[in-house]
Amino acid sequence: MARVLVVEDDPDVRGALVRELAVRDHVVRSAGTAMDALREVTQAPPDVVVLDLGLPDLDGGEVLKMLRGVSDVPVVIATARDDEPEIVRLLNAGADDYLIKPFSAEHLSARLAAVLRRAARSGSSVLLRVGGLRIDPDRREAALDGAPLELTRREFDLLAYLAARPGHVVARRELLAEVWRQPYGDDQTIDVHLSWLRRKLGETAAKPRYLHTVRGVGVRLVGP
Ligand code: CA
Repeated sequence: MARVLVVEDDPDVRGALVRELAVRDHVVRSAGTAMDALREVTQAPPDVVVLDLGLPDLDGGEVLKMLRGVSDVPVVIATARDDEPEIVRLLNAGADDYLIKPFSAEHLSARLAAVLRRAARSGSSVLLRVGGLRIDPDRREAALDGAPLELTRREFDLLAYLAARPGHVVARRELLAEVWRQPYGDDQTIDVHLSWLRRKLGETAAKPRYLHTVRGVGVRLVGP
């Protein structure tokens, strides 16, 4: 059983894939656009992604690049184009496998199982990377430039939450609600944890490298 994200804009194909995978005991979520897929991957990290190349909002290569920017999740390309150079390009750009449409549910299921076995052998399936930061949410490990970071539970949660949304300004209310589970909590709680986290990242509020406070709005994690 795996958590599968099916990215496919054709509702009939999407529905059929979701049904067939669910019947095979997978936990399936789906997205019809690249933007929905990226949001899914950061908010509910899957074990594997099935990615249709012909999406309405972004080219398949672009989607893959953006996915790789936030996650190491295995990606199986599903393409109607029997286009070898494109497939080779995407495999080189970080796709893990591909299927030419139309394919059977058995074939897809077997490919997913193979990709998941490979991912399990090579360790975690979801690794967040921002600049020199590496965060493994499953193992709750974080490292900066190869050196492990000793973080408290809350510091880790805060860092992982921001790292899953690199470059986005995350509002303090959102952090209180999602990381602290206290939507009406005190902003100072965040400031204190941010300053501890900054110290561990070797930076200060005055000279930020990764953690940038956007006055009156929130916090943004971005590579230096
Ligand atoms: Ca399509």
